[in-house]
Amino acid sequence: MSDDVDLFVIGAGSGGVRAARVAAEHGAKVMIAEEYRVGGTCVIRGCVPKKLLAYASRFSREFADAAGYGWTVSPPRFDWPGLIANKDREIARLEAAYIADLQDAGVTIVKSRVVLEDAHKLRLVATSAAVRAHYVLVATGARPGNGTIPGIEHVISSNEAFHLPEFPSRILIQGGGYIAVEFACIFAGLGAQVTLVYRGENILRGFDDDVRSHLRTEMEKGGIRILTGRTVAAVEKTATGVRSKLSDGQAIETDRVMFALGRRPNVAEFGLGAAGVELAENGGIAVDPYSRTSASNVYAVGDVTNRVNLTPVAIREGQAFADTVFGSRPTAVDHAHVPTAVFSEPEVGVIGMTEAMARARLAAVDVYRASFRPLKATLSGRDTRMLMKLVVDGSTDRVVGCHIVGPDAAELIQLVGVAVTMKARKADFDATMAVHPTAAEELVTMRKPVARYRREAAE
Ligand code: NDP
Repeated sequence: MSDDVDLFVIGAGSGGVRAARVAAEHGAKVMIAEEYRVGGTCVIRGCVPKKLLAYASRFSREFADAAGYGWTVSPPRFDWPGLIANKDREIARLEAAYIADLQDAGVTIVKSRVVLEDAHKLRLVATSAAVRAHYVLVATGARPGNGTIPGIEHVISSNEAFHLPEFPSRILIQGGGYIAVEFACIFAGLGAQVTLVYRGENILRGFDDDVRSHLRTEMEKGGIRILTGRTVAAVEKTATGVRSKLSDGQAIETDRVMFALGRRPNVAEFGLGAAGVELAENGGIAVDPYSRTSASNVYAVGDVTNRVNLTPVAIREGQAFADTVFGSRPTAVDHAHVPTAVFSEPEVGVIGMTEAMARARLAAVDVYRASFRPLKATLSGRDTRMLMKLVVDGSTDRVVGCHIVGPDAAELIQLVGVAVTMKARKADFDATMAVHPTAAEELVTMRKPVARYRREAAE
């Protein structure tokens, strides 16, 4: 039986769109299906709109800080519906650009849910049409997984947070990961009273402990109430809002309750079993380093594989898949050196090992750390500090981790990422001339380690 297309991509998010476009540029006949909106989580209800809201939320600090620099700002007013409408316009523009890019590359877009009937045969739910594909790429992403406590129907996820009809002046957010922390800072910056509830002892588990405690302190200075070591046990509607009952017996009423308890790969109800695609223990699709699944013509990229769930990683995986299968250039993605940022207030930017990780893995570790008041905070009078930390392999002098909390940490870590990926040594940082006066110059002027760890050689 002949194939209708060389490649059928399920899901037009970051990974799927890149794979479809590049495969088409390599000469493949490509069809891509999307049941919601082209662009996926990142563009439609993730990274991009989140960053726009983060920008919006930071003006309040700028207004407050302006006084020390001689400005009088008459009481600023904030218009939530106006912000959301502007954000939606920009997202619609981006979606149109994604569609145009795909069409320019010759990719056929179908707006439909798709079900795999076997590894080559797909059914378009919208029209019931069947399509035969030589290769299939699953790029269906992930969705919020917020559990099932009593009253969960009154709880929103980040999906809804982007479209709330009214600004919540009081919000409780549960979770201690990227999304919870980012939205806590966004809502606080926009003027809400924010309570963050997290089950562990400190937010951002997995990040360097200094980063976690530094950010928590800064968020608390910003007015966010952080309650750790407890969970939300139940939620109920009241006449004036929503009441959250916490595991410690406390009850807190807010206008909205949002959970961000992680995201689950979208693997259900579209025939992965019929296609012979197996799942990994973490609930994602199991893949080899080339993103090939247990069905030899079916590949999977992005959050649905639950490897490193970040947009640029999905894009890399989509590109590598297309180059491997249609570009005669087998490419595996290196998941080891992934810089990442949390768009909190202040921002977090990190790459590589935490101090704890390095101590567990390496025989010798040197730690350099600077915590200082940024120059801008002097005249503004703002009580804030910036953190910079380098984790160095004491045996090779290689910088194996960099951790930054402060303004523009996301921008900074992108460039430090180049140096760390190139295996720069601490001596290379030291040899780099400082740019003065900047915050980033601290990264090349930290001369004395604050801690040195040496593991005794085994007898
Ligand atoms: P995360 O996995 O980052 O965090 C989930 C949080 O929920 C953790 O603090 C976790 O606690 C807590 N949690 C999980 N289950 C429960 C439970 N049953 N009860 C109470 N707390 C619970 O997920 P997010 O939803 O924040 O984000 C999803 C993914 O999206 C991220 O992993 C990231 O890859 C990506 N993302 C990236 C962004 C960026 O690059 N800036 C921004 C937003 C999202 P514990 O730590 O104890 O497990």
